[in-house]
Amino acid sequence: ILGAIKKRSFSHSLSCSRHGSTLVVAEHESGVVKPHSLSAVTAATSLGGGNDKSSVSVLLAGSGPSLHQAASHAASSHPSVSQVLVADSERFKSPLAEPWAKLVHLVQQQGSYSHIIAASNSFGKNIMPRAAALLDVSPITDVTGISDPHTFVRPIYAGNALCTVRYMGSNPCILTIRSTSFPVPQKSNDSKAEASISKVNLSNFDEDLNKSRYISQTSQDDERPDLGNARVVITGGRALKNSENFKLIENLAKKLGGAVGATRAAVDAGFVPNDLQVGQTGKIVAPELYMAFGVSGAIQHLAGMRDSKVIVAVNNDADAPIFQVADYGLVGDLFEVIPELLEKLPEK
Ligand code: FAD
Repeated sequence: ILGAIKKRSFSHSLSCSRHGSTLVVAEHESGVVKPHSLSAVTAATSLGGGNDKSSVSVLLAGSGPSLHQAASHAASSHPSVSQVLVADSERFKSPLAEPWAKLVHLVQQQGSYSHIIAASNSFGKNIMPRAAALLDVSPITDVTGISDPHTFVRPIYAGNALCTVRYMGSNPCILTIRSTSFPVPQKSNDSKAEASISKVNLSNFDEDLNKSRYISQTSQDDERPDLGNARVVITGGRALKNSENFKLIENLAKKLGGAVGATRAAVDAGFVPNDLQVGQTGKIVAPELYMAFGVSGAIQHLAGMRDSKVIVAVNNDADAPIFQVADYGLVGDLFEVIPELLEKLPEK
């Protein structure tokens, strides 16, 4: 249907023709598409059987040079990406849900996609249900598996059961996906595979959006990897007792080049900020190595880390539930084990 897609210049406007059946709503930072959104591209690709060159469009919004760099990154992110749509406007600089949801609505009107996908992080969880409401469809959230274009797997009961759901509604089928279940695609080296980049026509964009106001954003400014994407996560629980002792966890994470995680009990007790919380009401992680110190293994915590490749648990209670999911368990006192690890592990 779509025919050959020519590489177009950035200044061209998006026409009403439909280039792809799936739209990925993507986040970008410092000129690159965020890994969560690249996982959404992988999910979108699996909807089209994996080889459909023209199946995926990526929507990016914001302003400034980093938007243009991110568009180039998206264009070469995967051979199945045929088009990158760029909404270049100051109003999308901050991740406010109202303008973004309206943007998704507008782009859907222009492109008639069969599916719209975003990662199930704070960005996607904020925008996609609003966009679904504007489009009068029901979103399917937290998808971990795609059986066919209308059949999806998602966890229920804090991850204790997996539910297969079939979408019977009208287009578009709106999904948020757990990025830990869909690998980040390898960057394409084939320049011919690069997608076209087009501007979204914002002339019909409704400006009546004064429901929320962006004030500021703070992010952790350290050298540690992002918790959601780290290959190694070192988590501490209530047993750490205070924020001073929590430095043991931070030092071990630093030594292993990993991110720091925490249980809700540790967050509620004020040992660490709540953006470090792992679990049902925190971040979902699936690193290569997850080390849990003084963590009991409540189901709400397991919901956020049980897909980790290797789980190591240290707890002084041999009956702690965390040992049921651990690949390696050590019954011991974390205040003895961590200093010993710090002493014996080589510098990363
Ligand atoms: P505890 O359960 O108190 O466990 C501490 C563990 O440390 C114990 O197993 C103990 O044996 C061990 N210990 C004590 N001293 C030492 C020592 N010196 N050395 C080694 N081990 C030691 N929790 C989350 O983590 N994430 C969530 O997202 C989350 N969401 C929730 C949502 C809801 C709706 C609800 C109701 C709860 C949620 N919780 C969540 C809370 C969860 O139920 C648990 O209360 C919490 O995970 C317990 O944290 P913890 O393991 O640090 O503490």
